[in-house]
Amino acid sequence: MRVNVSSHDLKASDHKHHLHPFTDHGALGIDERRVISRADGVWLWDTDGNRMLDGMAGLWCVNVGHGRQEVVDAVRAQMSELSYYNTFFKTTHPPVIELSEMLAGIAPDNINMVMYTGSGSEANDTILRLVRTYWALQGQPSKKVVISRKNAYHGSTMAGASLGGMGAMHSQGGLPIPDIHHIAQPYWFGEGMKTDMSEDEFGLWAARELERAIEEIGEENVAAFIAEPIQGAGGVIVPPATYWPEVKRILESRDILFIADEVICGFGRTGEWFGSTYYELKPDLMAIAKGLTSGYLPMGGVLVSDQIAEVLHREGVEFFHGYTYAGHPACCAAAIANINIMKREGLVERVRDHIGPYFKSRWMTLEDHPLVGQARMVGMFGALELVPDENDLSKRFDNVGKVGTITRDHSFANGLVMRAVADSLIISPPLTITEEEVDHLIATARKTLDVAWDDIRKQGLA
Ligand SMILES: *Cc1c(COP(=O)(O)O)cnc(C)c1O
Repeated sequence: MRVNVSSHDLKASDHKHHLHPFTDHGALGIDERRVISRADGVWLWDTDGNRMLDGMAGLWCVNVGHGRQEVVDAVRAQMSELSYYNTFFKTTHPPVIELSEMLAGIAPDNINMVMYTGSGSEANDTILRLVRTYWALQGQPSKKVVISRKNAYHGSTMAGASLGGMGAMHSQGGLPIPDIHHIAQPYWFGEGMKTDMSEDEFGLWAARELERAIEEIGEENVAAFIAEPIQGAGGVIVPPATYWPEVKRILESRDILFIADEVICGFGRTGEWFGSTYYELKPDLMAIAKGLTSGYLPMGGVLVSDQIAEVLHREGVEFFHGYTYAGHPACCAAAIANINIMKREGLVERVRDHIGPYFKSRWMTLEDHPLVGQARMVGMFGALELVPDENDLSKRFDNVGKVGTITRDHSFANGLVMRAVADSLIISPPLTITEEEVDHLIATARKTLDVAWDDIRKQGLA
């Protein structure tokens, strides 16, 4: 790596040569970008000498915190022993065997097989092909449609972005691909409040949208329903309490598969190993990534139920699908070390019983701020809905997203990484965060809200 390059020169070079994901490059000034050069625990440092609290755990992934030497050592040792071999053509290797057994151990009882990918998007691509292949092998090739939800996030590949329900993503590249159907999301603050339903009624209504879609499309044409137990990128949308029990009831009476996208909810984020456990759901397939390796190396996977695995194990059946780096030995080593840390330090139980409830109790105090219409949190992720008038929660800011971005920028300037989704702020820190660091996070968030509220009023936005 180059040394003694000034922070500005790094940014200028980045500006010149690096196309960033999800970025408006025309609006991104050269010196506006941050060059993150080091991280430890929940802390990040940039090349301008600023220290920031990583309230997003990277991109929802660094569950065990940054800079864990144990993961680095495990990867180094694996790289020396066997840095790459594939898992096609009757071959396998020790780390992929160990990780698969480990994942079967923490997955729900009816799930004992794993197919590996390089990312969450690839996991969902794999799943889309897999569910259609499963039904074809069952003699029901007409069952092809996958029902998903608006404002869901399932990745950025053709299948991932199509399964996702982000309008902006569908507007580019000719998406969604055929046979994917989007129903309403269970977003009470954003969608339910403008109806005349109570939150519980709205949860039932949103769940029954699934039933109505199945009726309309015909059960004989529906392969699966895919959902994040809690929508992450959509804005940490925690469904009304009535939603999942009603969806469960509908799924039980229908012959369709249920796919849980656990890419964010998995690996302790909700205070259980998986979001499906938190809501007592019984998925047939689970997409995993992010917290699987805590982001130390890129890896995703599909957890497959016994019922589906049995069909794939029939003689003469071959799923013509696979990625060169599936089950990469170094990524397996990172995942094993990561899960070992989570188990040894009891991180899942810590989120459920200790730091999660503590964080939530402090986070909810922000609801009294005049800029905040609602604070919500499950486990270790949450959101603040920003509103112009705390006494009339039906009102929203004009020019959606502007206030969210202003507030997010103040948060960065104050040394706290939060993310803006429209006019909400979301948070998802490492599961290792201490009480003291939570206190610091909350104090910085409050200061941010104060500064942003002044700024917003000065600009005449509220
Ligand atoms: C991030 C994410 C994905 C995509 O994972 P990548 O590794 O970015 O491809 C899929 N689903 C959910 C719920 C996600 O949050």
